[in-house]
Amino acid sequence: MKLGIVGLPNVGKSTLFNAITKAGIEAANYPFATIEPNIGVVSVPDERLDHLEKLYNSKKKVFAHVEFYDIAGLVKGASQGEGLGNKFLSHIREVEAIIHVVRCFENDNIVHVEGSVDPLRDIETINLELIFSDLETLEKRMDKAMKLKRSGDKTAQAEYDLMERIKAHLEAGKPVRTLEATEEEKEVIRGLFLLTSKDVLYAANISEEDLMSGEENEMVKKVKEHAANEHSGLVTICARLEEELSGLEEDEKVEMLAEYGIMETGLDRLIKESYRLLGLMSFLTAGPQEVRAWTIKVGTKAPVAAGKIHSDIQRGFIRAEVISYDALMESGSEAHAKEKGLYRIEGKEYIMREGDVVNFRFNV
Ligand code: GDP
Repeated sequence: MKLGIVGLPNVGKSTLFNAITKAGIEAANYPFATIEPNIGVVSVPDERLDHLEKLYNSKKKVFAHVEFYDIAGLVKGASQGEGLGNKFLSHIREVEAIIHVVRCFENDNIVHVEGSVDPLRDIETINLELIFSDLETLEKRMDKAMKLKRSGDKTAQAEYDLMERIKAHLEAGKPVRTLEATEEEKEVIRGLFLLTSKDVLYAANISEEDLMSGEENEMVKKVKEHAANEHSGLVTICARLEEELSGLEEDEKVEMLAEYGIMETGLDRLIKESYRLLGLMSFLTAGPQEVRAWTIKVGTKAPVAAGKIHSDIQRGFIRAEVISYDALMESGSEAHAKEKGLYRIEGKEYIMREGDVVNFRFNV
């Protein structure tokens, strides 16, 4: 999963990103790609893997992971090429969802680029830049569609009409993700790669005092309402505390969280909420060599899930041997679970469930 962090200057993006890289996987332990300086990779917390590791006495434990892209430099005027604006906008195209950091803490020593702290105005500033950029993208696509339409292409006609609707929506200052559309239309919209069609998770950055008191300040309330109106997610974090936490050992971390009266780090909540927002879930594989969590979309069928592990397994898919994590743990071992007949044999049409522990059978 790829998430991009955006927000105005001085809202706490770098502080959050530092927390992520400090808490993150070392580049050397990340087998998937080279990590660039603006990418932080963290494990998705999952204590089921710890238990499975013990059950199987596994050599290796591999968590699912999230890549955070630091997309700094998005300022007012970015879509007009102000600063390095356009380059940063293009980074947003690569991510699956946007984490929009909003400043919800007062501090006279920390300058706000607009002179005062006002989260809704800040959200609008960033959203407008993204909207401008989308309008530009859309106009180019409309020119092309217009030519096809003239040559009598029926699909082009329908697409053109949809694009006109999108354009009007954007011109009214609204992000594409709030446009009502049928499943078919959504498919077309995905193909347009518009920035404002991506899911957004607002990260309201609050002060240590507010975090400690547990009370929602007025600014957070406004952001929450805004997020709810556009069906976006919201997580409150204290970026500065996250940065401190990420430098600590596990036991010190637990102690510090307890001091603040909270159970989970903001980073963990951010990851969980992103999963929920994007409709993601995990299935597990376990054995003496390795226990591992894999990320899939809710509703994924067994062969596609198998393809996450290797395309050969998807191609040669025969069946899946499945047990729920809970049933496996209750049985005490794989052998016991098998004796009790708790493993199910599932075929090509099986829809994966959260926490399935799976063994795929396939032809090579
Ligand atoms: P960026 O420009 O969005 O990357 O913002 P920074 O991460 O550099 O933060 C700007 C300033 O706000 C820095 O002085 C941070 O220490 C401060 N800051 C960021 N997050 C918090 C927070 O949660 N609480 C407090 N009190 N200050 C914060």
